[in-house]
Amino acid sequence: QCITHCPVGALRERDDTREVLDALRDPDKITVVQIAPAVRAAWGETHGLPREMATVRRLTAILRSMGFDYVFDTAFSADLTIMEESTEFLKRLKNGELKDLPMFTSCCPGWMRFVKSQYPQLVPQISTAKSPMQMFGAITKTYFAEKMGIDPEKICSVAIMPCIAKKAEKDGHVFDRNRKHGMQDVDIVLTTREMDRLMRMQNINVFSLPEAEFDSPLGIGSGAGVIFGATGGVMEAALRTAYHTVVGENAPADAFRSIRGQEGWREAEFDLNGTTIRCAVASGLGNARKLIQAVLTHKVHYDFVEIMACPGGCVGGGGQPIPFEQNELADARGNMLYSLDRLSPLRYPHENKEINVLYDTYLGEPMSELAEELLHTDHNSWNMPLSMRLQQTDDEDTTIH
Ligand code: SF4
Repeated sequence: QCITHCPVGALRERDDTREVLDALRDPDKITVVQIAPAVRAAWGETHGLPREMATVRRLTAILRSMGFDYVFDTAFSADLTIMEESTEFLKRLKNGELKDLPMFTSCCPGWMRFVKSQYPQLVPQISTAKSPMQMFGAITKTYFAEKMGIDPEKICSVAIMPCIAKKAEKDGHVFDRNRKHGMQDVDIVLTTREMDRLMRMQNINVFSLPEAEFDSPLGIGSGAGVIFGATGGVMEAALRTAYHTVVGENAPADAFRSIRGQEGWREAEFDLNGTTIRCAVASGLGNARKLIQAVLTHKVHYDFVEIMACPGGCVGGGGQPIPFEQNELADARGNMLYSLDRLSPLRYPHENKEINVLYDTYLGEPMSELAEELLHTDHNSWNMPLSMRLQQTDDEDTTIH
């Protein structure tokens, strides 16, 4: 919170709202915006909107009224991430690559920078799947552009994220660029706070707009995609689809809920057709370090580990509204995402019909050659410069700014 609380205003928060306004006014640009899962749990807080009014559908209407041409849901590409990451996990498990060390999730840029600077020997264990934000951008400038007959060079791909570290991620400081076209997957990242500023600059009356649906064909997300925004959500979503792949039928959607919780480091075991999968989840970099040290000294053994840099996951991200009176809201926001999942008619990524059309008509299957090209990354394409390497601090459990 140091930037926003600097007493003399010497430190300023990066603000990309002007770039978005320029893109919205440019008649040659097609503006496509995606809304991250965690944003829907927090965007209404600074407007005093009750939670039942601060829905993602109302936010969709607001973004459309600002002039965005297409409004989509990052929960769609969270489902896509699960299709790729669960396939990769099962492949690595089968190949015996996880005998000594687990596979780690890759969707948090704060965690990626931490592991690259502090434990570079673990980089081969990180999933090669790009984050949902990057996958969304890659699909927008290829599949979507082709389907709609749009020149991808004209697309301005905007992402509303709970996270400041995502601004560096979109520049290629974590994942490499769209190898099919050589363009950036995502052009502009706005935090939830910047989006709020944009609404105020445009005098949007958030109380007056009726709700609206996402556009198609990248607008459907499952409940599993929505819980990506809370700690443990990526793991739970991946297990729902991995179970279906191995067993051939769905487990009850809440079968893996024992990995939920607010403790900074949690673990659980699940049976996948006779194979025990040992899972762990950590949020906050202090907890991540403790978990990694235990893994490296063989005090614990896991097959699959999810790490999020911010305590509580993205719902508590550094780009989210800052709560009045310093109340910590990550827990309440996370619970909201879990209740959206519970109420969702679609709870399994592999049952998302827009995802299935994407594979049937374009990508082929998870980890196909084209899917690898668009949706996976080479973790060696960007390494942490020596001068930027983090020093161990006693304060690692703070939100990533
Ligand atoms: Fe960004 Fe924090 Fe979410 Fe990581 S946990 S992606 S740093 S908001």
